[in-house]
Order: sequence, then structure tokens, then C-alpha cells
Amino acid sequence: MSRIAYVNGQYVRHSDAAVHVEDRGFQFADGVYEVCEVRHGMIVDLTRHLNRLDRSLGELRMAAPMGRAALTFVIREVLRRNRVKNGIFYLQVTRGAARRDHYFPAEGTPPTITITAKSTDPSAAAKKYASGIKVITLPENRWDRVDIKTVGLLPNVLAKQQAKEAGAQDAIFIDRSGIVMEAASSNVWIVTRDGELVTRPAEHGILKGITRTTLIDVAKKLGLKVVEREFKAEEMLAAREVFFTSATGICVPIVQIDNKPVANGHPGTVSSSIRDTFFDVAEKTAI
Ligand code: PMP
Repeated sequence: MSRIAYVNGQYVRHSDAAVHVEDRGFQFADGVYEVCEVRHGMIVDLTRHLNRLDRSLGELRMAAPMGRAALTFVIREVLRRNRVKNGIFYLQVTRGAARRDHYFPAEGTPPTITITAKSTDPSAAAKKYASGIKVITLPENRWDRVDIKTVGLLPNVLAKQQAKEAGAQDAIFIDRSGIVMEAASSNVWIVTRDGELVTRPAEHGILKGITRTTLIDVAKKLGLKVVEREFKAEEMLAAREVFFTSATGICVPIVQIDNKPVANGHPGTVSSSIRDTFFDVAEKTAI
């Protein structure tokens, strides 16, 4: 079966899917995106993802490419055409194609919208949950508006590559005063020695993850106390558990940071109980 992508109003073969050479996403990273998980034929937390897309577009003063109902229809159609039961869809909107110029293009330039989907192997995720992952820390070097989900991900790309070359899987950005910001494509959580579930506030300085928001609902259901406060790298290294949240990984245990084990070096129980309850609590939209 060949993969199908949606590009500016058309469903095309994935191998033929393309945007204009002067697309502003390509030339200026002038675009935003969303990644949403699909599990057992259900789109996870679609409303929250589309709300964040609206916010990202608004912050960049970009027009929405279509209304919510039409967009939902197209997303479901792309997933259906690719027969995705477990996987993701990726949606990107840019300020469109125009002769290269930093100023915004002329009023009425249509935005570019692309949607792709792919299946993923649930057993690969299960392996990650069972073993946990190793990470490194790096100085924060991103711009001030990482709360907007733009496709400008160069520091994140370089951070992940550096992690890979160091024998780890991911990287955590730490600011100048030692405060933990977020990982290259996930939010960071710790479980303190007192059993508190801590994550930093997400109003500024990090992306407000959808999984992070839903996890707060999950924690309530499980009777766990969530504290939104900043924490430093030392506190993270001394934590009982450290885990990452993201739509693609849900809740991934971190077992090693900068070659030092987290607690006993094995995944903890809090992250696994959160994972077990996550999909009961999350919003599910049938494909
Ligand atoms: N932070 C960054 C930098 C990310 O790229 C992501 C994933 N897109 C997240 C956090 C987690 O967000 P979400 O839970 O919405 O996937």
C-alpha cells in the first residue's frame, strides 16, 4: 500500500508530495506544526492539539488554512487512507509560497498546509518503557518563544544529534541558572523523594505539551499531587524518578542523565502507573 499525503487541498502519493521551492517554511522556518498520536484507531487529545495549533498560528499572525470541522475531516481522511491504527499524524502550516523576502507576503497569499501520517510499532514503545532511556544535559540556546510550536527546530536537532553521538537518546536543556527547561522534544517531570510529581510552569520558556496537560488530569485521577514549579538539574539528579512526556512517547522513563543513574537506574513505578491510566483519561476521537 502506498502512503498518501495531503498537500494544499489534494491527496497525493507520499513520494510525489511536495511544496513550492520558495515556501516560507522551507526558507524561513515560517510555519507551525502539530504531532498527534493515534492509538487503537483513536486520535488522542485532538481538541487540545488543534487548540494549540490555533494559538501558534495566532502568535505568528498567520491565517488558519481552514475551519476546524474541515481540518478534522482531512486529518481523519489522511489517517484512513494510510490505514493508521497505531501511529501519528503530522500537520504543518506555513505562511505560504512567495518570492523570497523577509516581510510577510502580500495579503491573501494562501498558507501551505500539509498532513502526513504513519504507523508505528507499539512493541518498540513498550521496549522503551521497559528499559528507560539515557539522556544528556545541554545549555539552553533556543529563542525566547519556544512556547510557539514552530518548525524552527535547529537547536533541538543539534541537541538530539549530540545526545546520539554521546551514546544517549535525548537531551535536556538547562538554563544559565541551572534550571531544567525541557527536553529536545518532550517536557520533563520528576518525582521527588517526598513523592511529589513536579514539572516546571509552562507559561513561558518551554512548549506547553498536550501530554503534560493531560498528565495533570491523570495525576488527579490517581490521587497524585502535582506541583508546577521550577527545579534545578541537581534536584533532578537526586529525584526518585525522572520521565519525559510527549504525544509520541506519552511517558518515557529516564534512567541515566550525563552517565549518572537516576535512583537505582531502572524505570520507576509512578511513570508506569501514569501510562496505564493515560488513555482512559485522554480525549479519544474515532478515525
Ligand atoms: N517540548 C518540545 C520542545 C516538543 O517538541 C514537544 C513535542 N512536540 C513537547 C515538549 C511535548 O509536547 P506534546 O506533549 O504536545 O507532544
